[in-house]
Amino acid sequence: MASRRGASKQARMPSERDVARRAQRIVVKIGSGVLANGGALQPRVLGAISRQVGALLDEGREVVLVSSGAIAVGSRVLGWEHPGRSIPEKQAAAAVGQIGLAEMWRKRMARYDRAVGQVLVTRAGLEDRERFLNARHTLLTLLELGAVPVVNENDTVATEEIRFGDNDNLSATVVNLVGADLLVILTDVEGLYESPPEPGQPLPPRIDVVERITPKIRRAAGGSESAFGRGGMITKLEAARSAAHGGAATVICNGRRKDILSRVAAGESVGTLFRAGNRLASRKHWLAFTARPRGRLALDAGAVRAVRERGRSLLPAGVVRVDGQFGIGDPISCLGPDGAEFARGLTAYSATEIEQIKGQQARRITSVLGYSNGDEVVHRDDLVLLEGPVGTGSTGTESTRTKSVAGSDPAES
Ligand code: GLU
Repeated sequence: MASRRGASKQARMPSERDVARRAQRIVVKIGSGVLANGGALQPRVLGAISRQVGALLDEGREVVLVSSGAIAVGSRVLGWEHPGRSIPEKQAAAAVGQIGLAEMWRKRMARYDRAVGQVLVTRAGLEDRERFLNARHTLLTLLELGAVPVVNENDTVATEEIRFGDNDNLSATVVNLVGADLLVILTDVEGLYESPPEPGQPLPPRIDVVERITPKIRRAAGGSESAFGRGGMITKLEAARSAAHGGAATVICNGRRKDILSRVAAGESVGTLFRAGNRLASRKHWLAFTARPRGRLALDAGAVRAVRERGRSLLPAGVVRVDGQFGIGDPISCLGPDGAEFARGLTAYSATEIEQIKGQQARRITSVLGYSNGDEVVHRDDLVLLEGPVGTGSTGTESTRTKSVAGSDPAES
């Protein structure tokens, strides 16, 4: 009887949740609001999450934890009533808090005979393709060894303009780093509500599955911020979008609920699930979401058409303006005549060189520069579109973003 009941329960399970039930490699992001209360780490919460992670590992699944809380914990240890306000204060708090945070995870996971490996990353580090790949090797090796990577941003060295800033964003990068198929964002709300919750009002209904990130969905996300965690629902949506392009579904749910992680991983309808899109090739995902452009190339309409609609490389003839100082191999933005960014790429020539060859036929490159690095300023293999027809590996503007997040983007670029 029991098994029949189990079977009928299975049959009722919404199929959209199968993706979570089948997920093999899971990135779990735990927000400060879940782990710490007023800056005090909640050992019971850490204990409960560790137990569920242990159970997932025993099932043969792999888990990477992205744990916030360093700043919150450090602020408390330093006796501050509020988290540090200035960047150096936050950095100091993170330096103090990270020790306790890592130790807490170590202790809790040891109960399940699992080692943890602390992995502190910076955006600047991961923007460098070689270091990105090194981080990947480390993470994959930890997983192979059955250890649990515990990732956080290395807040102590990251300055304002170069940091991830919130671990939502970071967790989506980790999805791409390890090629995860599920991202679980544990936060202090039940998921995405149909409209932003108002104080003193009953909670709006929870959205169960998001097929596409439409303007309506973005409005539902509002823009909440809490004191310790930097990311509100909007940054979680951005993370879900980025994860979708990495081929992973995302579940945003309440990390304080009993057995929440096990329930998500069992395919239960808890929190809000964002469907995965087709996986962009990892390098293109890195180019679109992790690398920071060092400069900009403004293109004429013909070049925009060739790149966007015909999937061609960018030739010097189509470049009308060069902004910024960048070298060979650096990430750059491509702008259309309307000034909007529509693609990112890795350039084969430096800013100074493109300044000299822009508007010219490719065969003139050698005579102008005295050498040639190929006809293309940006080769198509090094280009990723941020908008444009579905199927071109698009990642950008609202309208196409919704399509590709919905998984209707057929191209593996
Ligand atoms: N890296 C920060 C910390 O550990 C957290 C950032 C966030 O909460 O999103 O305190």
